[in-house]
Amino acid sequence: MTPNLYPAIIVHGGAGRIRAEEMPSRLDGCQDAALAGWKIIQQGGSALDAAEAAAVALEDNPLFNAGTGSTLNRLGQVEMDAAIMEGETLRAGAVAVVQGIKNPVKLARRVMEDGRHLLFAGEGALLFARQIGFPECSPESLIIESERKRWQEKHGTVGCVARDAEGKIAVATSTGGILNKLPGRVGDSPLIGCGTYANDYGGVSCTGQGEAIVRIVMAKTALDFLKEGAEPRAAAHQAIAVLAQKTGGTAGLIIIDRRGNIGYARNTERMPVGFIRSDGQVHLDS
Ligand code: ASP
Repeated sequence: MTPNLYPAIIVHGGAGRIRAEEMPSRLDGCQDAALAGWKIIQQGGSALDAAEAAAVALEDNPLFNAGTGSTLNRLGQVEMDAAIMEGETLRAGAVAVVQGIKNPVKLARRVMEDGRHLLFAGEGALLFARQIGFPECSPESLIIESERKRWQEKHGTVGCVARDAEGKIAVATSTGGILNKLPGRVGDSPLIGCGTYANDYGGVSCTGQGEAIVRIVMAKTALDFLKEGAEPRAAAHQAIAVLAQKTGGTAGLIIIDRRGNIGYARNTERMPVGFIRSDGQVHLDS
């Protein structure tokens, strides 16, 4: 079978208990992010650039728990995790527990491009940022008033999987983590294979209870189902079933396979997603 080279992109805006009245604006945000990545693919750009651009759009949107608008930890501070990965080469970069970085996914990309290491955490990530002249912002500037006020349970995370016109697949995930987390806690998002993974079979970005997602290495588990012949939708559902069965946890994931087919699944109440296939139409779902 000749693989089609149709590009595709899918983004998620986090899984969890999102109030119904909050969904329209979140779906708008997913649409904008999917279109930001799609534009790059349409212009002949790479899946990697598209995934990064979509994740940046979501990080900059205060409605989502990543970048600006990140959830607060037990000390009322923002500590963010992010990762980016390219399927064909298995190149990846990630940052964990970073403060004062407006777009952690961009810093993750720089870690990947630098190539010496794969994951930097905390102070070391900031030191790396300073060494490469990466712009910093004040940690307080990422805290939005509603977050400070709410300081209640909020799931989030943002993610994107993209497939470009050359058939390359890339994935980006970014998060403020879970609300009231203890300082220093690292979730699934920056852990390659757990919240973020891409290989020859496809790409996956996860959201939900990080501690559960890590235990079943969910992103890689979903891709293993693809490898065994499952369609993306089935692979996504199977991975969620494993998560529920083995850990009792809740989560969601998005997936694109090497033919550009899209799938997603969740066992949370909601997960806003936006996706675009070769016809260029934006589809939204929750
Ligand atoms: N998976 C993220 C984490 O555990 C949180 C989320 O997706 O809501 O850090």
